[in-house]
Amino acid sequence: MRRFFIAGNWKMNLDRAASVELAAGIVSALGDISQLDVAICPPAVYLEAVASELSASPIALGSQDMHDQSCGAFTGELSGPMLTDVGCQYVILGHSERRHLMGEEDTQVNKKLHAALLHGLSPIVCVGETLSDRQAGRTMDVIRDQFEGSLAGLTDVQMGITTIAYEPVWAIGTGEVATPDQAQQVHADLRSLIENSYNLAVGSGVRIQYGGSVKPSNAADLLAQPDIDGALVGGAALDVESFTGIIQQVPGY
Ligand code: PEP
Repeated sequence: MRRFFIAGNWKMNLDRAASVELAAGIVSALGDISQLDVAICPPAVYLEAVASELSASPIALGSQDMHDQSCGAFTGELSGPMLTDVGCQYVILGHSERRHLMGEEDTQVNKKLHAALLHGLSPIVCVGETLSDRQAGRTMDVIRDQFEGSLAGLTDVQMGITTIAYEPVWAIGTGEVATPDQAQQVHADLRSLIENSYNLAVGSGVRIQYGGSVKPSNAADLLAQPDIDGALVGGAALDVESFTGIIQQVPGY
């Protein structure tokens, strides 16, 4: 039985005071979340400040990225051990903004994924097609390539620890949301891909989040789909009411 998982990606937003206020607001607004997992991923410089706000709560802390090496001459980068040291449990990898704006490729995402697992972080690996991919009927080709490239070489156990976020690039930060049917179709196909690459038990255990303009008003229909196990939330994660409003739509909350 897969637990729902809602993660908020704050991207490069907020300052220290606003990050602390938002984290504190989420902690106090949420009721019992023992039936699901919730994580927030603030800007790296505010991880520690947010960690203090979360210390007495079941909400986990995540990073928006990491380097694949554990230390060394990599100016500006952050390693897995540094992230766990400040309290991170999760790390987002291969977000479309990193793939498309920073030129990150599957091979690099894959190295980061193996490093994350080595250092005890639970990865959230993002995959998703652009609008032109979708219009050309290439959605599943792109997802398959990203799955085979970014998630190569995992054991069954490692695949089970890894969350995949299906984030159609055309729906991220645009207000455009995949319909529940469109999202469910990709999630089901992706799950079959995992089942074929691993086995039925691994495929049916992997959590697949949907990401792309999720908000309280569309979350219930998306989360009601059988293969959608949660959401990776961008814009709506920057506001207490909208982020907790999404969580309140999780079946069984
Ligand atoms: C994201 O950046 O992962 C995302 C899904 O953003 P938004 O919710 O703003 O579309």
